[in-house]
Amino acid sequence: MNGYFDYNATTPLHTAASDAWLRASEKHWHNPSSLYRDAGLASHQLESARERLGNLMGAEAERIVFTSGATESNNALFTSLPADAVVVISAIEHPSVREAARGRNVMELPVNAAGVVEVDELKQLIISKRPALVSVMAANNESGALQPWRELAALCREQDVLFHTDAAQWLGKLDAANLGECDFITGSAHKFGGGKGCGFLVLPTEDSRLGFIRGGPQEHGRRAGTENYPAIEAMVTALETVTPRLSEIEHTQSKLRDGFIAALRARFELLRVISESAPRLWNTVLMVMPEHDNLKWLTRLSRRGFSISTGSACSSGKEGSSVVVTALGASAEELKRVVRISGGWDTKVADWQALEAAFFEVFEELNRGGRPQ
Ligand code: PMP
Repeated sequence: MNGYFDYNATTPLHTAASDAWLRASEKHWHNPSSLYRDAGLASHQLESARERLGNLMGAEAERIVFTSGATESNNALFTSLPADAVVVISAIEHPSVREAARGRNVMELPVNAAGVVEVDELKQLIISKRPALVSVMAANNESGALQPWRELAALCREQDVLFHTDAAQWLGKLDAANLGECDFITGSAHKFGGGKGCGFLVLPTEDSRLGFIRGGPQEHGRRAGTENYPAIEAMVTALETVTPRLSEIEHTQSKLRDGFIAALRARFELLRVISESAPRLWNTVLMVMPEHDNLKWLTRLSRRGFSISTGSACSSGKEGSSVVVTALGASAEELKRVVRISGGWDTKVADWQALEAAFFEVFEELNRGGRPQ
């Protein structure tokens, strides 16, 4: 039984990615910036990984800057904007966008009752405020709600406004082929089996500048520091490996997820699933339990071998209150009952059923006054 249901927090390394990492580390460990032949080979491999990643997203390779992950990418973008820049961000962005944008002139784009931003609402905001940049994530990390990033990107193009999407949760779960239509794209390898400490930011053009990390000519002067080619190779390999399977996985896993929701609802009539009416990631269920605090659920499920989350992980490594459920206007009491389940690419029906059974067992235990049997 695999009791891991926190794939939106992080994923194990894909075997194809670990093989790729090892091969790259053994063969091409040289510094890509050095001038001898072996370094040239490492640099060639690095550029070919950039091409391959660009192909997966429909983005020119020259637009891609490799970073240490989504947090760095989001910070690199927002700190490179002028201090007086007007920016629009959605009400459900990850803290790495919300906090990096702080200090700029930030307007918040609300979400509707389903936890999704509305294109018309953005249009009004663009017309009245003329922002320099709009940032709306592709898929929400807590609820899994898909945002209409393609329509938003088209609207921004028509209105001559730059558009950024944080695609950390979209990449590796849904097809990335059209993401290149966005001016800026954020990605993080460990969200799709590609290993930690590696990610990227796509920029609008090959001439776009970034000055977040200085001190060397790497990444065409846009991000200093010796490139982590083995990690980059692992990331690109993970994405290449999973991409052809995505529609089959979506089909299978969304049924398992919906079966899980139906089973829970048959027992907990008052269960509230956030963004249930919206298109969502096939692996994610964000729910407000009808009774008992989320930490009580989490610790008792953990004792039974299941890993779940209470919302979104914050920077201290502790979990903060759900940004999404807050944006939907929930009470403080409801916020304490939020739990997030996020399955993986190969989570089995037996794993989902074991989780269901564990929820029922924990419920009995909590109703007896919290005493384990
Ligand atoms: N953006 C989103 C949407 C995320 O889900 C996460 C990870 N929770 C991040 C950014 C930050 O990613 P990382 O920790 O890999 O920098």
